[in-house]
Parts: sequence; structure tokens; C-alpha cells
Amino acid sequence: MNERKHPRVVIIGAGFGGLYAARALARKPVDVLLIDRNNFHTFTPLLYQVATSGLDPSEVAYPVRNIFRDSANVQFLMGEVTAIDHEARRVTVRTNGVTRVEPYDYLIVAAGSVTNYFGNDDVATHAFELKNLADAVVLRNHILKLFERAAWAEDQDYAAALTTLVVVGGGPTGLEMAGALYELQKHVLQKEYGPLCDVEARVILVEATDRLLHPYPDKLQRAALRQLESLGVEVVLDNPVVEAAHDHIRLRDGRVIPTHTLIWAAGVSASPMADTLGVDRARGGRIPVAPTMEVAGRDRVYVVGDMAYLEDEDGAPYPMLIPVAKQQGILAAKNILRRIKREPQENFRYHDRGIMATIGRNRAVAWIYYRVQLTGFIAWVAWLGLHLITLMGFRNRLNVFINWVWNYLTYDRSVRIILEHQPHAADREALAPRGDQTSASSAKEEAGVSEPEVGKRAAV
Ligand SMILES: Cc1cc2nc3c(=O)[nH]c(=O)nc-3n(C[C@H](O)[C@H](O)[C@H](O)COP(=O)(O)OP(=O)(O)OC[C@H]3O[C@@H](n4cnc5c(N)ncnc54)[C@H](O)[C@@H]3O)c2cc1C
Repeated sequence: MNERKHPRVVIIGAGFGGLYAARALARKPVDVLLIDRNNFHTFTPLLYQVATSGLDPSEVAYPVRNIFRDSANVQFLMGEVTAIDHEARRVTVRTNGVTRVEPYDYLIVAAGSVTNYFGNDDVATHAFELKNLADAVVLRNHILKLFERAAWAEDQDYAAALTTLVVVGGGPTGLEMAGALYELQKHVLQKEYGPLCDVEARVILVEATDRLLHPYPDKLQRAALRQLESLGVEVVLDNPVVEAAHDHIRLRDGRVIPTHTLIWAAGVSASPMADTLGVDRARGGRIPVAPTMEVAGRDRVYVVGDMAYLEDEDGAPYPMLIPVAKQQGILAAKNILRRIKREPQENFRYHDRGIMATIGRNRAVAWIYYRVQLTGFIAWVAWLGLHLITLMGFRNRLNVFINWVWNYLTYDRSVRIILEHQPHAADREALAPRGDQTSASSAKEEAGVSEPEVGKRAAV
């Protein structure tokens, strides 16, 4: 232990697991250091609405410092955790160009997950992903730029490829994305750009297996397919992507789809942060944990959320979902407090209220408490209500509500500004690692702001 008055808990990640752990430790007899590479918490379920111009990025993110401004025992450090020294009990953090070493008495690792391309490098190179706010803004800029380009394209086939958007993955994120893209095209872009390029914009959802929404019952899977197709989305089942390039994709049956937009929503695996734990991994690269959320062989280390692998009583792993991450984060925090007081720790028990996915205006499916199956308008209203309640911050809730009402009544998508971030030279120099001789141009490349090409990923 160090010489602090209270034990120090370091939490890596201010996503759902880490944030709720920190909240459970606020105003408790521990010192908390919460670390995240971003200074905000992201509400991931609405990222697709940022990518499709429905919401502003600031409406789905909330500054971490604001959340803890009344909690004197919680400090926040914006930085990238690069290593964990389990012997010396400290983490290495790269922050604002300097490297800090932060000691801990207890560690909660909640670094989430990354997109999994299942080893397909072509797809990894050309696909857009939707894991964080930067991804959503990059994708939004890309789609808007393609339509600007299509509007002036003289070759109709080229224009058609530019306005064909492909989403891969028949899970909730893929469905939500495909539905929202179609509505953006149909109700906004087609009207504004249609007369110029005179092509029929398309949204295609590609799924490798023969069904959508895997864990859902048959009835809801069929309802989801029906609702997507009635909206206008073309659905391709049982036909994985085998090849991707900047201007087309190829499916297993040999079909080639000319497109400059491949959005990958087909799989995730644990964050590379898992490497720093130095233990054997479970499926999806996740870290096996005890029901107390502790990592076997790593004293005082807890892993929660998408990174953690824990099976339920039927032997199925808990899914990578927000309620799981929140509840595990809170449990890890409480178990640390119990351990400090030398009380027995408790095991994880998941309180599961069901699953739901929205497909577009008036369309959704919901399986409430795994008993009640809802489809269509009622499911959609339930989805809207739940997401509005769980969004962080009253101002965000109000803004999102106003935006939704506005979009519903007018079919408009107001957030359509193409704004790409170019770091100021002063920032590049200030943020370059001390002693680093990186030139301005290579710093620019590192920041991912080199001239973005169609189909290539770039950071904002
Ligand atoms: C587009 C999308 C939509 C989703 N929709 C839903 C939904 O509707 N319902 C649902 O239940 N789930 C949904 N999910 C899944 C849900 O977001 C995750 O299950 C949940 O966020 C997991 O929480 P977590 O704390 O494990 O990770 P996250 O919430 O992802 O948080 C991880 C945090 O760690 C930080 N971090 C990572 N590595 C480092 C590092 N080295 N140094 C510093 N910081 C680091 C990240 O910046 C991030 O803030 C969705 C996910 C996505 C991507």
C-alpha cells in the first residue's frame, strides 16, 4: 500500500463499466483515479444517429469532469493507458505528450472492445466502423462528401456506386444503421441531390448467416426483416463479404456490389488493453473473470464490461451490452469496498430486462423481460423512451427529444455540415512526446488527418 490516507482505486475507461464503477465509489473512503483517452463518456446506442446526421456529437457525449464535479475523491486523467505493472501495482499513461506512472491499490479495467474483422485485412482497410464518436463523425463526413461528388459525376455508374451504401452485420447496430441511412437518403439526400445525379440511391444490408438478430425469437427476426424491406433496405442473407476494395465489395456467391461505403457492424473483440493483463484469453479475446469480477492470478485487479468473460448458469457468456457493463462496474466497485472492510465479496447476478432494436421511423422489435414480444410502432416508442431516459445529462435529453420531434415532423436531418478537423501547428508541437523529433507532416499523418480518400478511414 502507498502512504495515502485511503486506498487508491485506478479505473481504466470511462465507458459504461468504468463510469458506473467510479460513481459507486464516489464519496466513499477511497481515492479514485478514472482514466480515459477521451474527456467524455459516449452513449453508444445513439452513435448511428450522429453518423446519419440526426444528432450532434455533443448530444450523445457527456464530459467526465462534469459528472464528478461534486465528488472530491474522484480525479480524472485524460490519457492513453499503455502498460500495467502488476508487480509494482502501477499503470503507465501517455497524456498530453508526457508519460505518467500512476500507482494503484486496486485496479478496475473497463477498456471495452474493438471492431473484429475476423482476419480479413481487405475489409479492415476499406471498411468504416462505428465504435466511437470520431468514427461516427468520419462516416457522416464521408457520406455527405460522396453525395456532393455524386451530384457532379458525369458517369451514372460511378454516381450509382457513390450513392450505394453497404452495411455488414445483421445485429442491432447493423439494422439501426441501415434503417437510418435509408431514411437519410430517401428523405433528405435524394431530395436535395437527386435532380442533379439522377440515380437511385441504395442501402444494402449484408449478413453472413441466414437470419437477422440472432438471439431474438423467430417471430421478431421475421418482423425485423419485413420492416427493413418495407422501408426500402435491400437485405442479403447467408452471403458473407469475401473481398473489399475502395470501389466495390464481393460476396461469397460471386456477386459484386459497386460501392464506396462499407460499414462493418459484424463483430467485436476485447480491447487490446487485454494484452497488458498477461493472462490466457477466452473467446473474443476477453479476459476470464471470477463471478466477483476479479482476474485469476492478478491480485486486486477487476475486469468488467466488454473485456470481461463470465458465463451465466447455462454456460453462455454474458453479452457485450450496456446493462452488463454497468452492473459489473458497480459490483467491482462494491467488492473493492467490501474487501477493504474485510467483508466477503459478492458474485455477479445479471438483472436483465430484455433486448430491443430499432429499424427506422415507427419500426422496431423488442423482447421485454424475454416474455413480451413487441414489433412496429409500440416497440419503437418503447425504444425511444428507454434511450431518452438512459441518456446522460438533462440538457442532452432535452436536445435529443427536440431533435427527434423535429426530425419526425419534418423528415429533416439537420446536422449536415462537413467539418474536418485539422490540428493547429501549435497543438501538434505541444502534444508531440517530449524529445520526439516528429516532423509536422508525420505528426499530421499520425493524427490521421492526411487527405482522406474515398473508402479509406481517417480520424477527425
Ligand atoms: C454503435 C454501438 C451501438 C451500441 N448499442 C448498444 C445498445 O443499444 N444497447 C446495449 O446494451 N449495448 C450497445 N452497445 C454495446 C455497448 O456500447 C457496450 O457493451 C458497452 O459500452 C461496454 O461498456 P465498457 O465499459 O466495457 O466499454 P466502453 O463503454 O466501450 O468504454 C471503454 C472506454 O475505455 C476507453 N479506453 C479504451 N482503451 C483505453 C486506453 N488504452 N486508455 C485509456 N482509455 C481507454 C475508451 O475510450 C472508452 O471510453 C453498442 C455499441 C456500439 C459500438
